[in-house]
Amino acid sequence: MRHYGHYINGEEVSPHSGEHFSTENPFTGEPWAMISRGDGIDVDLAVAAAKQAGEGEWGALSATDRGRLLRGLADLVREKAPHLAQIEMTDNGKLFAEALVQARYMSDYFHYYAGLADKVEGRVIPTDKAGVFTYTKYEPKGVIGIITPWNSPLSLASWKIAPALAAGCTVVVKPSEFTSASTLELVSLFEEAGFPPGVINAVTGFGAEVGEPLVVHPDVAHIGFTGGGEAGRRIYSSAASHLKTVTLELGGKSPNIIFDDADLDQALKGAIAGIFAATGQSCQAGSRLLVQESIHDEFVERLVAYVADITLGDPAAADTQIGPVANRPQFDKILRYIDIATSEGATCVAGGRARPDIGSGQFIEPTIFTGVENGMRIAQEEVFGPVLSVIPFKDEEDAIRIGNDVVFGLAGAVWTRSLRRAMLLTDKLKAGTIWVNNYRATSFTSPFGGFKQSGVGRESGQEAIKEYLETKCVWISS
Ligand code: NAD
Repeated sequence: MRHYGHYINGEEVSPHSGEHFSTENPFTGEPWAMISRGDGIDVDLAVAAAKQAGEGEWGALSATDRGRLLRGLADLVREKAPHLAQIEMTDNGKLFAEALVQARYMSDYFHYYAGLADKVEGRVIPTDKAGVFTYTKYEPKGVIGIITPWNSPLSLASWKIAPALAAGCTVVVKPSEFTSASTLELVSLFEEAGFPPGVINAVTGFGAEVGEPLVVHPDVAHIGFTGGGEAGRRIYSSAASHLKTVTLELGGKSPNIIFDDADLDQALKGAIAGIFAATGQSCQAGSRLLVQESIHDEFVERLVAYVADITLGDPAAADTQIGPVANRPQFDKILRYIDIATSEGATCVAGGRARPDIGSGQFIEPTIFTGVENGMRIAQEEVFGPVLSVIPFKDEEDAIRIGNDVVFGLAGAVWTRSLRRAMLLTDKLKAGTIWVNNYRATSFTSPFGGFKQSGVGRESGQEAIKEYLETKCVWISS
């Protein structure tokens, strides 16, 4: 069985603790690799390597040369995409087809930020002070601590690593203890792509043992975190007590709003992909389906019929549509929410059961609840699984009210043929991403992030690079 070390200063190294823990394949339920159990001493070593690289060879490179290295890495990621996807599928249970698309897309991500590296420009600023020339320049913040969850480990790490390196920072990444392997495979490519040692480092292990020391480390300037609200809050408060900046990408409970004037065939596909892609383990899932009363019953009937034909199974098989839940605690959590919904009085019209007969048994049927009121826990809390709550609404005002009546604000969608209605809803919905007549489109070129309790700051696009830069204002007199 493969024993993974940490990756520090360009080398695979054994953990200071001498301990490893196993990681399981969610489809078979079998351990398939051993992951290093990191601690604060490993974090110290990794941060020291990152700091040294930033102050040394990496820091001395021009932005154009940084871009050149990132471009080489992007090509290598594309070449290795099938291998990365295979590891991602084995560790996370993600469909191979989806993992491959994501791995190839990461290559595009690195290409995009390779191009941005030398396009970070300051401004000349006219001021009220005579005889002084004033301008701004942007400088890398320094060492960035990156902490990622288990649902899309490679993508979510790349969303942060690419802009951080383009900005000239160096990185210590801590992947989720449930899915560390693909990130370790990714960071091991940097040396082959010609990066100086120490520019990227990975320390694996648990939140309290590796994540916390990383967050409070005095030489870490900024934390880029994706994960749940509970960890997000702890990280935000300990970063605040050390006065460091953060980017937080947290949970969601996004409304997917279907009006009766929509193209209902398209809306049906959008509703299904919105919730069931990635076995519902997606922060942007459209987990609250708001359906206009006039079409509610007919639309639910069509949804239920569609769901009946969805194939659960081996994530490696081309015809599988829903794979296993990524880990046992998450599997248990989803089943708990199904019980909660039932006890709150919602009606389960599709699914609702585990499938012990498939693979490891860590499967849950695509599940639909009707009769959901927006105040119920099933409508307010993030389930992070293949569970859809259908909520009827009367009119535009009602849709906006229900859509916004939640602590999250990550995304939302509206399906309508009315431009006026689409514009009204895009104005009034309080979320970082609004889709009109589509669900789930994202790109490396466009900012992504949350309003309200869905997060702080933005990833992707030109916005993301700014998260990793300090602004310096220079005043020159002759
Ligand atoms: P999690 O918060 O439990 O863990 C995320 C990471 O944080 C892990 O690496 C974990 O070890 C680490 N961690 C935990 N406690 C920590 C602490 N006190 N200090 C430092 N690090 C700590 O989340 P998860 O269960 O792995 O992932 C699921 C969550 O991620 C969901 O809530 C989902 O919505 C969210 N998510 C958000 C986005 C987004 O872009 N907004 C994308 C994907 C997932």
